[in-house]
Amino acid sequence: MDLYEHQARELFEEHGILVPRAGVTDSPKEAREIARGLGGRVVVKAQVKTGGRGKAGGVKLASDPAAAELTARQILGMDIKGHTVGKVMLAQPVDIEAEFYVSYVLDRAAGRFLAIASAEGGMEIEEIAASRPEAVARIHIDPAEGVTSAKAAGIAEAAGLPPQTVDVLVRLWEVLVREDAVLVEVNPLVRTRQGQILALDGKVTLDDNARFRQARWGAEGAAHDDPLEAAAAAKGLNYVKLDGEVGIIGNGAGLVMSTLDVVAGCGARPANFLDIGGGASAQIMADGLSVILSDPAVKSVFVNVFGGITACDAVADGIVQALDTVQLTKPLVVRLDGNNAARGRSILDGRAHPLVQQATTMDGAARRAAQLATTA
Ligand code: GDP
Ligand code: MN
Repeated sequence: MDLYEHQARELFEEHGILVPRAGVTDSPKEAREIARGLGGRVVVKAQVKTGGRGKAGGVKLASDPAAAELTARQILGMDIKGHTVGKVMLAQPVDIEAEFYVSYVLDRAAGRFLAIASAEGGMEIEEIAASRPEAVARIHIDPAEGVTSAKAAGIAEAAGLPPQTVDVLVRLWEVLVREDAVLVEVNPLVRTRQGQILALDGKVTLDDNARFRQARWGAEGAAHDDPLEAAAAAKGLNYVKLDGEVGIIGNGAGLVMSTLDVVAGCGARPANFLDIGGGASAQIMADGLSVILSDPAVKSVFVNVFGGITACDAVADGIVQALDTVQLTKPLVVRLDGNNAARGRSILDGRAHPLVQQATTMDGAARRAAQLATTA
């Protein structure tokens, strides 16, 4: 689970990392009051769980409380990459002398944490890494040793960060460990003209397995980071949003995961993971289809079902009924195999929906769905 910037800011502050004075609100009127309390001039920042807010117009300077109210009114409700802005943070502006990038992230493949740091912060790390890879230091951290002062000094030196950042690097590691995070990122970490090191932006991703220990984030914490995932969760679906264009529905987590692999093997990218489990009712099909079809990136949908306890004819009935309630807008490729597959296929044939086609093998269906998605 990702935290909002203002929550990350709060954690940084608790662990002794300097942050700008700030307040959070969902009301423009209150934004004016907060700005007044902060001395008038403020940076108004959209609180959404996605990066690149600055470029999207979600970070703006306001010169006085009246301007802060106006700016808050503009930013509240704004859509940033599919995320609606519900709150703004107002922060005291800082005179930036230099912008750095620092993060700790769990490197599962290495069984280590990875420190990523650069003296060229401010823009997105992917861009820095692409344009000037030598400007980005990557240093593994043994989780049992953690980030000692000596380790932090090594990270700062490798990245070309000033020595005053060493203390921040140690404290940031404490945030990661104490708060059960799998990612902490500060971009930019700045040196002010007064020579202070301040965290001007923060991203913290908590380990969902430790959620029971982090009850303080409450209802806000339970909120899903992705709007489609939130819609799916509200319908009780096992859905994870991915970056591709082939929507995927399957029964059983193992089958769905292999379906993702097979689609990727056909040269397309899966748009999601959706496991309908043993329940292939019309309602679940309709709910699953409506979530997947509302993803604008989806170009085709692949329904991959291996009939076991839930037989294929029941799944086919579910699909046919779902087609009555959901307006199918993209081609659907269905592969039914296993228990009562023949009966299931003939039910779908009987419905003869122009956008629904069947394939008898998983590979054949994946190829077809991939083809439809890449030529669409
Ligand atoms: P992001 O675009 O979502 O990463 O949002 P950030 O919080 O990183 O803000 C984007 C950029 O706005 C930063 O890289 C800074 O250059 C600038 N910015 C944010 N706060 C301040 C501030 O207090 N003073 C100044 N001068 N610039 C700021
Ligand atoms: Mn940033």
